[in-house]
Amino acid sequence: MATKRGMMDQFWDIKNEHPDTVLFFRMGDFYELFHEDAVIGSQTLGLSLTSRDKNAENPIKMAGFPWHAIEDHLKTMLAAGYKVTVCEQEEKLRPGAKLLERVVTRVYTPGSLYEESLIGTDQSALLCSIVKKNNIVGIAFFDASTSRADACEVSVNDDWEKVTDLLMSMNPSELIFSEKLSQDAKFRHCISHLEKTIFSQHNSQQKVVEKSLKELLKVSDLGHIDLNESEVATHAIALAAHYLSKMHQMTEIPLNKISIINNHQYMTIDRTTLANLQLIHAHSGEKEGSLFGSIDKCRTAMGRRKLKQWILNPLMDIDEIVLRQNSIKSLTKSSRRLAGIRDMFLGLRDMERLSTQLAYGRAGGREIYAIGEALSRMPGLKALACETKNEMLTKLCEGIDSLDYLRVEILSTLQPNQPLSVKEGGLIAIGVNSELDTLREQSNHGEELFKNLEAELRNSLNIPSLKVRYNRQIGWYIEVTKTHLEKVPNEWIRKQQMTNGSRYITDELKQWEDNLLNSKTKANLLEYEIFKDLREKCKQKCQQLNNISDSVATVDVLQGLAEIARKRAWVCPTITNEYNLSIQNAKHPVLGQDTGFVPNHVDFSKKRKFLLITGPNMGGKSTYLRTTALITILAQLGSFVPASKAKIGLVDRIFTRVGASDDMLKGRSTFMVEMVEVAHILQTATPKSLILLDEVGRGTSTFDGLSIAWSVTEDICQRLQSRTLFATHYHQLIGLEGAIQGLVNVSVQVAVISGELKFLHTVIDGPCDDSYGVQVASMAGLPRHVVERASDLLIFLERQAEGAKAGNGKTPNKRDVNQHSIFQFLAAQPMTTKENEIEKMIKELDIDSLSPRDAQETLYKLKGFIESDNFD
Ligand code: ADP
Repeated sequence: MATKRGMMDQFWDIKNEHPDTVLFFRMGDFYELFHEDAVIGSQTLGLSLTSRDKNAENPIKMAGFPWHAIEDHLKTMLAAGYKVTVCEQEEKLRPGAKLLERVVTRVYTPGSLYEESLIGTDQSALLCSIVKKNNIVGIAFFDASTSRADACEVSVNDDWEKVTDLLMSMNPSELIFSEKLSQDAKFRHCISHLEKTIFSQHNSQQKVVEKSLKELLKVSDLGHIDLNESEVATHAIALAAHYLSKMHQMTEIPLNKISIINNHQYMTIDRTTLANLQLIHAHSGEKEGSLFGSIDKCRTAMGRRKLKQWILNPLMDIDEIVLRQNSIKSLTKSSRRLAGIRDMFLGLRDMERLSTQLAYGRAGGREIYAIGEALSRMPGLKALACETKNEMLTKLCEGIDSLDYLRVEILSTLQPNQPLSVKEGGLIAIGVNSELDTLREQSNHGEELFKNLEAELRNSLNIPSLKVRYNRQIGWYIEVTKTHLEKVPNEWIRKQQMTNGSRYITDELKQWEDNLLNSKTKANLLEYEIFKDLREKCKQKCQQLNNISDSVATVDVLQGLAEIARKRAWVCPTITNEYNLSIQNAKHPVLGQDTGFVPNHVDFSKKRKFLLITGPNMGGKSTYLRTTALITILAQLGSFVPASKAKIGLVDRIFTRVGASDDMLKGRSTFMVEMVEVAHILQTATPKSLILLDEVGRGTSTFDGLSIAWSVTEDICQRLQSRTLFATHYHQLIGLEGAIQGLVNVSVQVAVISGELKFLHTVIDGPCDDSYGVQVASMAGLPRHVVERASDLLIFLERQAEGAKAGNGKTPNKRDVNQHSIFQFLAAQPMTTKENEIEKMIKELDIDSLSPRDAQETLYKLKGFIESDNFD
C-alpha cells in the first residue's frame, strides 16, 4: 500500500521516540537538523541556519553537514552535554513506498560510548545506573568501552551519603534511573552534587531487564557469579545493560566482566577525603599535583585506568596486598628486566577498548592490525614477567595468551599501513588471495596503459604537450593545447573547452576506463570480503582478548609502581591487623620529591592514639596530616611508600576535615560545613579509622570553638578510639596530655634566629605553646604599627584567658546521664523551643489562685524570659 507519509512525518516519528536528543537526519550525502535541533546545531556546531520551504507561512528551520563530518560533530555535541540520535536512510525503497525509509542506527549519549575516538584515550565514559528496593540502593558502573560492569549495594536507612560519595568518586558521565526514583527527594539531593553528569530516565521492569541480562551472561559465560545474592545490584547492572542495548540498537551488547563489590572489601574513601587529599585530581582539577599524577608510570591507557581504580579502592585484605607487594619487589630486583618490560608497553594500544570495538562489529583495519601488533608483544612480555618467578606475575602470565594463530593471520593478511575506510581497498597484503592479486595487477596495469597512450599519441600526432589525465567529472581524457587543435582526429569527442585548449574522450579510452574501474571495484569488494572474514574470526576471540588486556593492564600498573619504588627508593611497608601505625622518615608522595623536603616520623599505638599537633601556620602541620594519609592509602593499594620504614595497621576508612571552600559557594557557612563534617566523623568512625582534623571550631567565637574542639577531642579519645591527627591553634588543649589516655602532644618545630622565624618542618614530640601568629602576620607584610599593637593585645588577652586551659584541674566534670546543659537546645536531639517553654509555663499556672501581685510578677518573669538571650 502506498504511503502518504512525507519526510517530515518520518522526522517527527523518530523525534517523538527520542525526544530528549538532537536528531541527525540522513538525507543523501548530508545529515540535516530541523526545527529546534537546527538552532542547537547552528549554535553548537557553527552550522549555518537556513530554512526548508522558504516561501511557506512557517518555514522549517534547517541546518546540515556532509556525512563524513559526523564524528567531529558528534564529539562536539556530546561535549556540550547533548544526546544525539543518528538515523540513516535505507538504500532501497520498500515495496509500495515513494520515500526511502529512515531508521535509527544509534543514540549517542555520554555514558554509552565505546569508541576511543569519541571518548579520548585517557578519558572514560562511565554509565551509572541506580535502583532502589526498600532501603537498599543498587548502583552499577558500566564501562561500555571495556564491556565491564561493577556493582554494589548500599543501605540507605538514614541518608544517601555513601551513595553520594561513590558517585562523586566514580564521576560517571551519565546516570540513569527510573521515573519513580526521580521523585525521591533524598535521591534528588544526592545527585545534585554531580555537576558534570548527564541524567537520563530509563524505565523498565526488573523482571524484563534481568531476564535479558541473564541471557547476555550465558552468552558471555559468566555463570560463576551468583547474582541472586545481590538482587538489587544485579537489577542495577541489568538496567544499565538494557539501556545500552537500546542506545546501540542491539539485542546483545558485549559484557565481559561483572564484579559485585562488597562494602568491606576496600578502604572507604568519601568524597571529602578524595578531594582533600587530591587523590585523582589536584585542587586545580588537573592530574598533575595529585597522588595519581605522581605515581602514574604506566605506559598504557588500560594500565592507567586500573591504577586509578586501585587508588580509589585500597585493599582491606592483607594477603591481597602482600601479593601485589611481592610482585613489585620482584620487579625491582632487576633493572634490566624492568626496563625490558617497560619497553614492551611502549606504544601498546588499548587492547581492552579495541576488543570491545571488535565485539560491537565496529573495528576497522587499523584496529584489527593494532590487535595483531599488540598480540605480537605478548610472548616477550610473558617471558620477562615469568622470569621473576613471582606468584602473582606468573599467574598473570598464564592469563596472557598470545593467540598465535590469530596474530599470524592478522599480520599476514593485512597491510601494515591500514586505510581509514574498509571499503576502498588498500587493506589486504599481496599474496593473500590470487584473484585479488590478478585484479590489482589489471587495475595497476590499466593505469600504465594510459601513460603509454600519452607517449604514443604525442609521438604519432606530434603534439609534445598532449596529456592523458583523469578527473572526477569526465573520467579519463586527452588534453590538447590551442596551438595543436587542428591535429586532433575527427572521431575524438570534445568534452570540455578551456581558454587554453580542449579535452577529448574516445571510444577506446572509455572502454579502457570501464575495464580499469571494473577491476578496481572488484578488487575493493574482494578486499572487503576477506577483511570481514578476518574481523569475524577476531570477534570470536573478544572475550579472550579482553581477559588478556586485563592481565596486561595489571602488569603495567605493577611495573609502574616498581619503577617508582626503584627510582625514588621507596620501601615496602609491613601491613598488619594491629592498631599500630608507624612510619619512619615519611615523605609526602607528591611534595616529597623536592630535595628540601624534611622527612618526619609518625607513630600511633595504643598509648599514642590521638596526636595533637601545635605550631605556627606554615609550619607543616597540614602536610604532615596528608603525608600520613597518603602513605596509608599507598600501602593498602599494594604500593611501596616514601619512607625508610613503615608498619601499617589496616585502616578501614580515612576521614578528613581540612577545608570547606566548595560548599561556601552553596551558601553554607564555613563553620556550618565544618560542623556537618565533624558530626559525620563522630557518627561513623571506628577504632580502625584514621581521622585527620586540621583545626576544628574556626569561624565562631574563640571560646565556642575551643569548647567544641575540646569536647570533640574527648569524644574521639574516649569513645571512638580512632587513630587521629588533630592540628590546632587552641593551645589551651595541650594540657589534655596526661588527662586523657592516648592523647599525645606533637609540634612542628620553628627556630627564632636573630628575631626572625625559621620553619624547620620537623615534627617532634611535645607541645608548642606559641602560634607565632603575630610573627607570621608580620612576615606576610602587615604594617609595623599593626603588628606592634597586636603583640601588646596578645599579652593582655593571654593574661585574661589564663583560666581557660585544659589540664589545670578546673575542667568541668562530666554531667550525669539525663542531666542536660543549656546546650541541649543545640544538640542534635529533639529540641524544646522557647515557645514550648513559655507554653509550658503558662499551662502550669493556676490563674485562680494568683493574687494580682503574683500575676504581675509572673508577667514580669515571662517577659524577662522572652527577652533573655539564653534560649535563642
Ligand atoms: P601549616 O598546615 O602548618 O600551615 P603546611 O603544611 O600548609 O603548614 O605547609 C606550609 C609550607 O611548608 C608548604 O609550602 C609546604 O610545602 C612546606 N612544608 C610543609 N612540610 C614540609 C616538610 N616536611 N619539608 C619541607 N617543606 C614543608
